[in-house]
Amino acid sequence: MDGKKLEYKGEAALKEIERMTKNGVEIQESLLKQILTQNRETEYLNKYIKKGDLVTTDVIAEFKLHVPVISYEEILPYIQRIANGEASSLITAQPITEMLCSSGTSGGKPKLVPIVAEDLDRRTFLYNLIMPIMNKYIPGLDEGKAMFLNFVKSEMSTTPCGLPMRSVLTSFYKSKQFKCRPREPWNDFTSPYQTLICTDINQSMHCQLVAGLVHRHQVLRLGASFASAFLRAISFLERNWMSLCEDIRSGQLSSFITDLGCRSSMSAMLSSPNPRLADEITKICSQKCWKGILCQLWPKAKYIEAVITGSMAQYVPALQYYSDGKLPLVCTRYASSECYFGVNIKPLSDPADVAFTLVPNMGYFEFLPLGDNGTLLIDFEEVHVPNDKLVDLGNVKLGCFYEIVVTTFAGLYRYRVGDVLQVVGFYNKAPQFRFICRKNVVISIDSDKTSEEDLHKSVTVAKKLLEPYDTLLVEYTSYPDASSVPGHYVLYWEILHYDSKMELGAPLDTNVLEECCIVVEEQLDYIYRLLRTDGSIGPLEIRVVEAGTFDALMDLFISQGASISQYKTPRCIKTNKALNLLNSKVVASFFSPRVPEWKPKKVD
Ligand code: AMP
Repeated sequence: MDGKKLEYKGEAALKEIERMTKNGVEIQESLLKQILTQNRETEYLNKYIKKGDLVTTDVIAEFKLHVPVISYEEILPYIQRIANGEASSLITAQPITEMLCSSGTSGGKPKLVPIVAEDLDRRTFLYNLIMPIMNKYIPGLDEGKAMFLNFVKSEMSTTPCGLPMRSVLTSFYKSKQFKCRPREPWNDFTSPYQTLICTDINQSMHCQLVAGLVHRHQVLRLGASFASAFLRAISFLERNWMSLCEDIRSGQLSSFITDLGCRSSMSAMLSSPNPRLADEITKICSQKCWKGILCQLWPKAKYIEAVITGSMAQYVPALQYYSDGKLPLVCTRYASSECYFGVNIKPLSDPADVAFTLVPNMGYFEFLPLGDNGTLLIDFEEVHVPNDKLVDLGNVKLGCFYEIVVTTFAGLYRYRVGDVLQVVGFYNKAPQFRFICRKNVVISIDSDKTSEEDLHKSVTVAKKLLEPYDTLLVEYTSYPDASSVPGHYVLYWEILHYDSKMELGAPLDTNVLEECCIVVEEQLDYIYRLLRTDGSIGPLEIRVVEAGTFDALMDLFISQGASISQYKTPRCIKTNKALNLLNSKVVASFFSPRVPEWKPKKVD
């Protein structure tokens, strides 16, 4: 794939969107043929389709008839063999260049997702569609800068055969496509490149915020990849604005910045003291109430860009608070390690109405209808899916729910990504998809994706600590508390003391319950522990509730129409009423006393 050919700009990009939305089905078919033709010698495809058939017969029909719909576990043996040094040709004709560590996990470890060199061109292509779309709605964005606070994660070592293992964004920011991007006005970020790739998040954050503040009068766009990351930056600013102002006042970077890349890239920006600017910022930040602070610090900002859909929707109220509801919240793209999917062609729509148009040259998309022909949002079990149950882009129906399934150049065939989407409209002939949820995720704060099963396993291990004290965990549920930054998991525990000498609700031993908090955390998956360690998630909290609380919760749900015979305690609380009920019954609260152990693990 030729990267240059894909750099659509301005009008050309908008024309390309028109073409793609009118001819999506044809583009998809031709892309699938290309994938199958390129990869026809691979061990994986050969297992299902005879080589000859891929040349002579209707390849798409052969593919749909014989290639199974799979989950990660089914492709894992191939990925492991490649990670251990066998040829990429097990699954793809092109050399695999990296194994991306997805935030989805398998057996507690991050899923490893193969990519090939030209995937970075494909991803750049999708990014390049975003600014022309934005400019259509908010003209003049190329007359100023973007303060996009992006961060890389420290590299997770390499596979045994030396392939880099890193997150999708780390891979993108370190790619030549990003480093050597054309220096166009729409590409003009306040953060110097070296501050963005600094893996010490505090140093990176400090420098990027200083840079954003230095350019406060030129900044037209604010953002971060995810809403949680942007709020974390605001929280950092709340705690550290004096030190940031000091750097601006003195023209000298704080001594705690030891990263050489950060120091050298910031030195030109802070070449002379700027007490006037420091005074302006001090005046704004000294206010007690930070409602609308973003519009004061960056008075020309026109919107905030971040993922605000799915589990990030919980952060919308906080973003609206800090911008006093004056800045549109814009969710521009829907992407994953496996494949970039789509863009939002109506970027100013309300956060609740955000829909994505799939970009048909990213990968081949198929859709598994959920429930009865896509009409119901159920069916989350990992069941075997008959090959003919999937529909293609041209056959999805308005209002229906689907799990997205993808086939990529890098060797994923009919791979269930795990995301549930709903068709909410059409643009030209292209369906518009609303992101509904990640399958099986019960609670999430950042890019962690904790399933009901993982939560249950963790609680099961932790509750054993109560047994020596003649106490039992009767019931539990959870809630992602995003009211403070970083957000944290809250578990509501109803505990029964069965020693008749002890009264119900007698004081609980703090150490035991704190230990329960940390044991839950240590049992949660790798991504959770990683995000806890780097501070993206705060310490887990257990709120002990009065006896009888979960009965009251059941009464509440039944009064709202739940069936008594089918009632199951929800493992995560979604409604304010239920949350208020639980909070009104809290007798004590305990936090995890330390960060859980986290070690990068090699693939085995
Ligand atoms: P990762 O592979 O770790 O980058 O995670 C990708 C996953 O993040 C996707 O499969 C979705 O579940 C979620 N995701 C990505 N973009 C969005 C979005 N715009 N809205 C909601 N969820 C998203």
